[in-house]
Amino acid sequence: MTTSSPNNAVNSQITDSLAVARQQYQYNYTHIPAIAMVDELPDQEQFTSAWFCLLAQVVRIIFINTLIVNRGNQGSPSVRDDVKRFILEALIKGAIPFQVGVVARLLQILPQFLIKSISKDFREVDDLLFSLFKEGGITILRDSLNRVVNLLYKDQPRGHVTNLKDYEKLLPEIPLPAIASTYQEDEVFAYMQVAGFNPLMIKRVESLSDRFPVTDEHYQAVMGSEDSLSAAGQEGRLYLTDYGILDGAINGTFPKEQKYLYAPFALFAVPRGSELNRLLRPIAIQCGQTPGPDYPIITPNSGKYSWLFAKTVVLIADANFHEAVSHLGRTHLFIGPFVMTTYRQLPPNHPLRILLHPHFEGTLAINDAAQRALIAPGGGVDRLLSSTVDNARVLAVRGLQSYGFNNAMLPKQLKQRGVDDPNLLPVYPYRDDALLIWNAIHQWVSDYLKLYYPTDKDIQQDAALQAWAAEAQAYDGGRIPDFGENGGIQTREYLAEAVTLIIFTASAQHGAVNFPQKDLMGYAPVLPLAGYLPASTLKNEVTEQDYLNLLPPLDQAQRQLNLLSLLGSVYYNKLGNYPEGYFTDPQVKPLLQAFNENLQQTEDTINQRNLHRPSYEYLLPSRIPQSINI
Ligand code: MN
Repeated sequence: MTTSSPNNAVNSQITDSLAVARQQYQYNYTHIPAIAMVDELPDQEQFTSAWFCLLAQVVRIIFINTLIVNRGNQGSPSVRDDVKRFILEALIKGAIPFQVGVVARLLQILPQFLIKSISKDFREVDDLLFSLFKEGGITILRDSLNRVVNLLYKDQPRGHVTNLKDYEKLLPEIPLPAIASTYQEDEVFAYMQVAGFNPLMIKRVESLSDRFPVTDEHYQAVMGSEDSLSAAGQEGRLYLTDYGILDGAINGTFPKEQKYLYAPFALFAVPRGSELNRLLRPIAIQCGQTPGPDYPIITPNSGKYSWLFAKTVVLIADANFHEAVSHLGRTHLFIGPFVMTTYRQLPPNHPLRILLHPHFEGTLAINDAAQRALIAPGGGVDRLLSSTVDNARVLAVRGLQSYGFNNAMLPKQLKQRGVDDPNLLPVYPYRDDALLIWNAIHQWVSDYLKLYYPTDKDIQQDAALQAWAAEAQAYDGGRIPDFGENGGIQTREYLAEAVTLIIFTASAQHGAVNFPQKDLMGYAPVLPLAGYLPASTLKNEVTEQDYLNLLPPLDQAQRQLNLLSLLGSVYYNKLGNYPEGYFTDPQVKPLLQAFNENLQQTEDTINQRNLHRPSYEYLLPSRIPQSINI
């Protein structure tokens, strides 16, 4: 045996590459304590130029829309002149540093870029962007971003509205979302729970605890005197959402006004019958966890604005749970540790690393940006959501830590909430569509792993794989709770299930909670990210102006629209769409083809389903990115 044998050379290359990775990908537990995140983002994890271009296209629309609202009607003959005037002002006021040459090009290119319609000429817009990149314009813009944004918002409309229509003035260029005309309907409110931005809360219950004492009188006022609470409970038709995890949250005040978070209960029921299109209906809401005069039970008969106020309180709680727990905690922060452990423990030619790599693109970068800017003091979460930013961080952490890996499998989650039986809960689009995708991914992952692990013994003897599993759950590693079988991975069946959960979460689950941010969550009267009156307002009958004062003031509504439109608009890559020739093993080709055919069938099935139910499009495979990158 000589030191120059090819095997040794390969082995030492692998050892070297892992040693480099372990230097580059170091754990940090204090960015968002005590979650495992990357300490410093390695260069290869930075967003690509293609991603920035996509982002810039979205920013462009948001910028023009905001400029027209905040700076329009100042006598300029066109939007183009408004843009030029704004850039000049930014230069004069020092928001953009004055650099000869670049500035001239900026003035020439930027208005064209900002105004060009994407649909008209994609290539021209891209060319403009790339020339900006080359000339250093993007760097200048990025470094000036905060100052430019502050200048843009300086003259924004402010204050609470006296008419719902006042919010429509915030969207001169962006179309009003469809939900804006239907959100006050009770069926739409209930539909949010099964096909909305956070379709993960409802639980089937047999009866109610004395913390939420709804009576038959309340129930029958909605469902009719032939039905009763106990019958609905026994027949599996009673559903509850409980936002108890938000109880005791510390209300925020940033940027200046007192904001409120709530911990409501909401009760829903499915009508009797055997039809497959029976929709959930809302029965009653209690806006706090303890019954009594502070938190009366509100029903559709409590008066138009009291009921609307109570429904809005539930949506505010739901939005805060969604962003901290369902979105940030249980998708972004759930996947981050696996990116780290995969690159630190699996060599570049390891089949599991090859399988997972495309599902990790951009994830560390967006998580790093989130902890630096979004969920940091003075950032979007601090400004727009209900609680203090520290409280929002704690919520995200608790949300992740209480989400045991082995319990997070989709079929188990549905079963645990008692919502897995379509005979009991016939209309649950998230459940039905997510299961199709879960099964498609599971098939693909199982077939793929079978190529490399003919038996369970091969799994047990793969030292790199076992090190990966150990690090994922280690206290000085990924800190993933409740992972593995007896600490390690013993069976191919378990590995397939675990990898399915990782890929499903990085793609479909993130898609289901990320993209409704644009269409369902951006428009503040439909979905306020914070409440501006206490729940005790409901002790008396609520007036229209009380309801309007619960909603965000216009400046907050504009920022919400902009942030959520941005987060809900970037579709960087697509599930199943691996780069051409990415898998070099010829045995993978037929399996991948079967996966893509399966996804196409799923697409057709969901399109068919949407002909017979209120539309739910977030789990169409064509709209699910491959990885978390926004
Ligand atoms: Mn996201």
